[in-house]
Amino acid sequence: MTVKIAILGAAGRMGRALVNAIASQAGVELVAALDRDNAPESGLDAGSLAGLPALGVFISSDLEEALAVADVLIDFTRPEGTLAAIAACKKAGRPIVIGTTGFTPEQKALIAEATRGIAVCQAANFSVGVNVLLKLVEDAARTLGDAYDVEIVEAHHRHKVDAPSGTALALGEAAAAGLQRDLKQVAIYGREGHTGARKSETIGFVTVRGGDVIGDHTVMYLGDGERLELTHKASSRQNFAGGAVRAALWLAGKPVGSYSMRDVLGL
Ligand code: NAD
Repeated sequence: MTVKIAILGAAGRMGRALVNAIASQAGVELVAALDRDNAPESGLDAGSLAGLPALGVFISSDLEEALAVADVLIDFTRPEGTLAAIAACKKAGRPIVIGTTGFTPEQKALIAEATRGIAVCQAANFSVGVNVLLKLVEDAARTLGDAYDVEIVEAHHRHKVDAPSGTALALGEAAAAGLQRDLKQVAIYGREGHTGARKSETIGFVTVRGGDVIGDHTVMYLGDGERLELTHKASSRQNFAGGAVRAALWLAGKPVGSYSMRDVLGL
């Protein structure tokens, strides 16, 4: 059976990578390519836009029309785009793969509410390597325990609009889970001025922005006399796109509920 996919954010960096991933994978078909209604790319062929031969699928903004023919929607946009997509998917009874990051706590609550009505697979990072890293980070934190200070350093391209990255936050959650701490209580987002000595329970985040860095993440465990660093470096957006398409294939036909990439990979 071929799974019919619609992409929201098809004109963006990830959208184009998704068009490539779908074109190179068996068992999936791109049936709709959506973006903002005033996007300059409206009406252009999604294949040509992604550097492929024309596919006969044109950039539009009609979610309802797209969901009438698609089995699953993949969203890589901005939080407002995701919330509109969830409302449309609920109405059409279609599952959604959410790759967008940068949600406020209120927006996260709205997404959690939506999972009562449809199947949702959400991940701050769809790469297989990062999802293995999430597990390693939790395990290492549990084993090393309170004697090691945890700091997370991330770097992304100059166009990224949210910080720290959704992946860095997910790594923070994984470390906090291993240490039985609540990230909300212990996270420190950058330091400046006379900060005083480091409080041992804190988990620090450092954000680097610039150039064309696709996504680097390092979790440091700093102890007395040694430090352990776990690092992932993305060298192409295709790894996120391939993972999101794999998630869409997995999600089509799954019961209503909330899933993560760890579920898709069976981690
Ligand atoms: P981008 O700016 O290149 O593309 C975003 C696209 O979404 C644009 O074409 C824009 O016109 C469209 N868009 C914005 N608001 C919209 C709306 N309300 N309705 C419809 N379309 C809308 O950004 P990008 O680099 O492709 O990243 C997109 C999102 O995906 C970001 O939140 C980024 O952090 C996230 N991301 C997630 C992963 C992951 O693995 N989960 C990987 C990379 C990027």
